[in-house]
Amino acid sequence: MFDQIQRQLLGLDESFLVHAPELKSQLHPETLAAVLDLRARAAKFDFDLRIASSFRNFERQLLIWNNKALGLRPVLDSNGEPLDIQRLDNREKVFAILRWSALPGASRHHWGTDFDVYGASYIDANYQLQLTVAETESGGPFAEFHRWLDAELQQVNCHFYRPYAVDRGGIAPEPWHLSYAPLAKSYAQLFTLDVLREQLEQTSLELKDTVLESLDEIFQRYIRVD
Ligand SMILES: [Zn+2]
Repeated sequence: MFDQIQRQLLGLDESFLVHAPELKSQLHPETLAAVLDLRARAAKFDFDLRIASSFRNFERQLLIWNNKALGLRPVLDSNGEPLDIQRLDNREKVFAILRWSALPGASRHHWGTDFDVYGASYIDANYQLQLTVAETESGGPFAEFHRWLDAELQQVNCHFYRPYAVDRGGIAPEPWHLSYAPLAKSYAQLFTLDVLREQLEQTSLELKDTVLESLDEIFQRYIRVD
């Protein structure tokens, strides 16, 4: 049996969340207060800060994972091009999925502290949000927002950071993914391989045997972030 903090870390508990209609999001209340503050500061520079994805529970992440493993949802390579997953062996499948998707139970989106952000000021209502690095770079619709965010994250009173800012050979860079440090840093400390293993063993995870065999390596390359 897991205690409450373990359930929260694994995405099995939603009781701590608050709903923020203005952001169409569910977050930890402390995170939400800080996001609303960040949103107000962005507005002063005419950026309309919005959240593309915030809390995601275990079941949701499991569905994403299983659909990718079964070929029902695209799996992308490092350049964002679709891979033919049927041609990969199980180990290749697992690591291809991990490039862009967290293992269920190991997503920072389970914590209520992490979310994917964009600045909506320069897009029209029909714009199809992709969350790609190209969107955040020069010529992309969110380039100016991200340059503002770069500076904002340097401020001493800003408690957000980008856990996936650089590619360390595991997760692809995700400059849009922000984390609320005061909570997330301590959650990251509390997260353990044993708890994750126990949870995965009892779920209907596709590629489960391969995942469990490689769990130490997955933990080192894809889960431990500082
Ligand atoms: Zn994210």
